[in-house]
Amino acid sequence: TPVIVAIDGPSGTGKSSTSKAVAAQLGLSYLDTGAQYRAITWWMVNNGIDIEDPSAIAAVAGKPEIVSGTDPKAPTIMVDGVDVAGQIREQDVTSKASAVSAVPEVRARITELQRNIAAAAAQGIVVEGRDIGTTVLPDADVKIFLTASPEARAARRSGELKNADLNATREALVKRDAADSSRKVAPLAKADDAIEVDTTELTLQQVVECVVTLIEE
Ligand code: C5P
Repeated sequence: TPVIVAIDGPSGTGKSSTSKAVAAQLGLSYLDTGAQYRAITWWMVNNGIDIEDPSAIAAVAGKPEIVSGTDPKAPTIMVDGVDVAGQIREQDVTSKASAVSAVPEVRARITELQRNIAAAAAQGIVVEGRDIGTTVLPDADVKIFLTASPEARAARRSGELKNADLNATREALVKRDAADSSRKVAPLAKADDAIEVDTTELTLQQVVECVVTLIEE
């Protein structure tokens, strides 16, 4: 039977790198749910929707067609047939994603997509996000919650340890996590039955080994 793995945690804990490597190693599909929320945010920005107005966002939440490619070696994300993989990583989309993803109609829409993708994965799937273990796939076979110190997370995000704008990166991360943790619907949270792994002092390879071991147990 297909194995379902949920990997949650705040930004910069190594969720994406870990999830892709684990999925590739075990021959599973991979879904980046943050990319889906970034994609719908990109569409809202591109269509002039007022990000400050939850009812305006809710009214059009069903409009964009969002398609995720689930090969861990080459994941893709398309909105209305347009490849947005590069654009969804830009600062503007990143800073607006928390507000868009707090709208219940957006979460309902994206959650349904996620469940359909997981159900269709013949070999199983690694799904990474913020609410996968708690809300999207509460019956997942393995639930992991990754954490790391804000310093380590900011350093990973800015790509090097002694970056000049490390402080700004850390502040933006902490702010986004606070918004994601405090929203009313499906906030960033560790499921009661998730295994917490603190990655602060671990290499990517060590985290991958740890997660693979937990899945194979
Ligand atoms: O993981 P990533 O940084 O790409 O996620 C971008 C944003 O999407 C998060 O800050 C959060 O607001 C939202 N998100 C979410 N639920 C998920 C995954 C991401 O609300 N499962």
